[in-house]
Amino acid sequence: MDGLPDPGQIWNDFITNPVVQLAGTLIVIYVVLLWLGVAYWAFRDMQARTENPILPYFAAALIVFFTPLLFVFAWFLYVVIRPRESLAEVYERSLAEESLLAEVEKNQLCPTCRDRVAADWLVCPNCRTRLHRVCSSCHRLIEPRWAICAFCGTEQPAATTNRPSVSAAAPSEATAERTERAPEGKPLRGATNP
Ligand SMILES: [Zn+2]
Ligand SMILES: [Zn+2]
Repeated sequence: MDGLPDPGQIWNDFITNPVVQLAGTLIVIYVVLLWLGVAYWAFRDMQARTENPILPYFAAALIVFFTPLLFVFAWFLYVVIRPRESLAEVYERSLAEESLLAEVEKNQLCPTCRDRVAADWLVCPNCRTRLHRVCSSCHRLIEPRWAICAFCGTEQPAATTNRPSVSAAAPSEATAERTERAPEGKPLRGATNP
């Protein structure tokens, strides 16, 4: 039996080996660093998920409390109980909802036939209701009931609100108004020329 070395002696040799001891020390240092790193990660992660100033400290304390040996369990626990969405995700979602709402509001309905009309149409193509007019001065679309242009302040001719017989004359009327005026900055020919 002399040929077989004592297992206890082998183990003893193993753990007193300087290379093994160095490796063991490095593993311990690594685990401790990982433990503290996860605690810091939990702190930052909770900061990104809540506006509460206290909760991030609780998250880090949870990791620290479980010691370097068991902190992995606290890590799992934290991932399970943390708020599902980060603040950035919540913000993004509210932005998306807002733009969706704006999109819906943009799709207006004709006041007469309830057909869907675009915000910049002059007449409803379905029932010929006048939806907008063109300002005689700034040529922007204005509400038919406006007596004065909200954009440039020009008095408007008497409103022809929702006349069902506006018909095809409406757009051409508007373009006529547009064309009979000179482009901005240039006086009408003959009007002010010497
Ligand atoms: Zn209509
Ligand atoms: Zn105007």
